[in-house]
Amino acid sequence: MIVARVFVVLSAVALAAAVAAAQETGQQAAQDGVRSRVAEALAAIDEKRIEADVRTLVGFGTRHVLSRTDSDTEGTGAARKWLRAQFEQLAAGCDGRLLVSTQTEKVPCRRSGMPPEVEVVNVVATLRGTSDPERIYVVGGHYDSRNGDGADGVGVAPGAVDDASGTALVLEACRVLSRRALPATILFVAYDGEEQGLLGSQAHAAALAAADAKVDGMITCDIVGNTRGMDGERYDGHVRCFSYAPVGNDSFGRSLARAVTYAARTHVPEFAVKLIFRGDRYGRGGDHRSFFDRGYPAVRLTEPREDFSRQHQNLTERDGKPYGDLPDYADFAYTANVARVVVATLAELASAPPPPLVGTAQLARDAYDTQLVFELPAGVNDFEFVWRETTEPDWTHVVPAAQAEVRRANSGRNLATLRGVCLDDVVVGVRTIGGDGSRSRVATPPEPERFLQRPRGEGEEGGR
Ligand SMILES: [Zn+2]
Repeated sequence: MIVARVFVVLSAVALAAAVAAAQETGQQAAQDGVRSRVAEALAAIDEKRIEADVRTLVGFGTRHVLSRTDSDTEGTGAARKWLRAQFEQLAAGCDGRLLVSTQTEKVPCRRSGMPPEVEVVNVVATLRGTSDPERIYVVGGHYDSRNGDGADGVGVAPGAVDDASGTALVLEACRVLSRRALPATILFVAYDGEEQGLLGSQAHAAALAAADAKVDGMITCDIVGNTRGMDGERYDGHVRCFSYAPVGNDSFGRSLARAVTYAARTHVPEFAVKLIFRGDRYGRGGDHRSFFDRGYPAVRLTEPREDFSRQHQNLTERDGKPYGDLPDYADFAYTANVARVVVATLAELASAPPPPLVGTAQLARDAYDTQLVFELPAGVNDFEFVWRETTEPDWTHVVPAAQAEVRRANSGRNLATLRGVCLDDVVVGVRTIGGDGSRSRVATPPEPERFLQRPRGEGEEGGR
């Protein structure tokens, strides 16, 4: 009897193990769906094309907002004509899924020495989503440049790293992603007027907000090409990811940054993303700010150690040291690695279902369990929970849906109980999972600090 009983118990254990293994295999197969597609896209990224594009952009002499627009070889007009032609060439092979447009607007400019109003022209390539086209991801670099005099529209301003590198990255991301069918929409944008106060991105974010566009994330790639620090050291193993966060809600503002680290760890493990919990470099700004100001999650990717003898400088030599932002100082293999992070992030997010809607969270009354109320987007059944200590920068724990107790409330919402997760000490969130294993951004309940007063007087300058 006893022997038989032991046998039964063992069989049950074996059966459970077999079921778990089968589930894991199934999950693994699903994971491989997005993994193999992203791997294919990453393998197609070509640093030689990035280099050629940076050199072409530099070859226009200057891309300053006030530079000439009547030439095909010089000035900002030539630069945007060329950019548009590159996107159109890609669109020709995309069965109408990639649409190229320009956004032209006269906008006020407050920079000293500049006219009170300037015209900005953004070049936009829209890769329309196949099943959820209303959900939008934006990736941008700014093609305008400047030299030591911010109002000089004539003198040479190569802007190789700032920001032909980011613009070329966006073009390369469009090349490899436009060949693929993705559920959500991606906008690839070459922004104008960043150096004059984020003018192009402000116009774009304003137009999207006015159209009530559902932008689930914006990534600006700005200064992503130099790896030689001013200390002579080489810094090529990681990229910095800056993210704004509304006061008292670190999780909403930074969920996109944590989606970037997730995509990098999953698809580009040989290259790191350093989270920086600050909107931008100290006292500086970039195009993601325009999107944050409209309530959209937005991050900035920038090389680890900028060389300030390059940016916004006239081409010159002082005490034997060269100044100016020339392509010969850029590291195109590095820019290609940042492009891999960007492509992995966009492919992951645009493949995944939309993030869930999280209502409230509370600690259970009689146990150290977290209860979370959330809604899944229509037709989405697969999801998982994540949590971290409040002091941890990134998610440290994943709780599969099967390990949480999830029940449907009368309202149609879901109530999940995470056993042993003490909400007082941690941040919890939930993300959706696509049929191919792709993960959405993590949605989190509001932090209690949202009730506190927002401090006055915070402000950062843009476009420097
Ligand atoms: Zn820049």
